[in-house]
Amino acid sequence: MEFEPVIGLEVHCRINTKTKMFCRCSNTIFNAEPNSHTCPICMGFPGMLPLINEEAVKKAIKAALALGCEIPGFSKMDRKSYFYPDLPKGYQISQYDLPLSKKGRVTITLKDGTVKEIGVTRLHIEDDAGKLTHAGDSTLVDFNRSGTPLMEIVSEPDLRSAEEASSYARQLQKIVRYVDCSDADMEKGQMRFDINVSVRPKGQKEFGVKAEVKNLNSFWSLEKCLEYEIKRQIETLENGGKIAQETRGWDDKTGVTVSQRSKEEAADYRYFPEPDVPPLVVTRAMVEELRKEIPELPEAKANRYQAQYGLSAYDAHLLAEDSSLAAYFEEANKVSGQPKKTANWLLSELMGLLNKNSLTIADSKLSAANLGKLVKLVEDGVITGKIAKEIFPELYEQNADPEKFVKEKGLKVMGDTGELEKICQAVIEKNAKTVVDFKAGNERAFGALIGQVMGATKGTANPKTVNEILRKLLS
Ligand code: ADP
Ligand code: ZN
Ligand code: MG
Repeated sequence: MEFEPVIGLEVHCRINTKTKMFCRCSNTIFNAEPNSHTCPICMGFPGMLPLINEEAVKKAIKAALALGCEIPGFSKMDRKSYFYPDLPKGYQISQYDLPLSKKGRVTITLKDGTVKEIGVTRLHIEDDAGKLTHAGDSTLVDFNRSGTPLMEIVSEPDLRSAEEASSYARQLQKIVRYVDCSDADMEKGQMRFDINVSVRPKGQKEFGVKAEVKNLNSFWSLEKCLEYEIKRQIETLENGGKIAQETRGWDDKTGVTVSQRSKEEAADYRYFPEPDVPPLVVTRAMVEELRKEIPELPEAKANRYQAQYGLSAYDAHLLAEDSSLAAYFEEANKVSGQPKKTANWLLSELMGLLNKNSLTIADSKLSAANLGKLVKLVEDGVITGKIAKEIFPELYEQNADPEKFVKEKGLKVMGDTGELEKICQAVIEKNAKTVVDFKAGNERAFGALIGQVMGATKGTANPKTVNEILRKLLS
């Protein structure tokens, strides 16, 4: 029997505000001295009064809008109670039944070019807990992270493979960064994933029983953990076993998940409305104000590149998803006036060279204007595509102006058709047999003749012109 995975992700991103969610402690905590960014509010002292951070709410709304979410006019905070040493209040202030936003979507593009829309159930806000460090026999607690603002983005169970889940998570990272609502740096703990995964026989409508794995903190772990968990579940079912609804833990070192908590032992969070934080009333005017601050997003940009420039969906997405790459493309295109060719040169030649050296577009020595000029030289027939590719590495290294470079090296297309005609004539005379083949209807023989002429001109002839001359001489 063939099985199909069903995956839903809950992604936490730290909102990049200046201060924490409910107090005015600094939210810049990376590498800070433990417990140096704390106060009675984020330490959960009795009688403390939280005051919600307006910047955090606005940034979360902005991110939600970028995910195409609806923003209801009314939402509220709820207490989510559980006991843990890094949670001195005894509860997180989160959102339960009335989240800040809901019903969004994220478009992903897979390696094979498939484009798929993934539903976003909701984006809500909450405060983070502190952090425990186990050192030998003792455990240390750092409350710097306590009370930092999070947005939790919950997906619909629309993902069907580790690749889709990873692509979705990467897309989320890009979007929250695009709108500058989270730095989403996983090495700094600013983005974490909880995965929910089940499998079902292919063709079955109902979902299988899901297992949850919490707190994955890299794309690598996300992919490896999903691959492992999907395989484990399929093997369990194939061996006649059953999947338990449970929370499992993942270990990067061993590469396996282990059961942590069954459904029966699942935490009962006893959600109830947070009495110390008034409900959030979000006016339409505020939503529209925030919507204006959102730049053109990758998806819209990709659609525009297809409509306006006639790029393929694949190229358009590749360019649009990285704002620096998109900016480079637009600048080069302004010079070349050849969007498709520019995209080709940028994505294959330049990116190929950069990737080989583990560099990004920001590291490119060649300016966008010079790439644009090179494309234009080829398109105007000043140099051949072959020559352009040959000189590309040198142009790149020197960030050379292609026009000057070509002039200095005498690489221009042989403009003198008289001379070219002589060369063509010579080739025809030397290749009598090929000519006979061509006249007998063999088009490949014609290709061979063009090759001969190109060789004789060291590639400086324009193949189109050679084609025309040869056909004229042979007709
Ligand atoms: P819970 O009640 O366990 O929190 P939710 O319905 O809130 O479950 O969903 C949590 C996450 O699990 C969401 O991302 C959702 O898409 C995903 N999910 C729900 N059911 C399944 C399933 N059967 N298989 C995989 N993922 C699922
Ligand atoms: Zn504080
Ligand atoms: Mg839930």
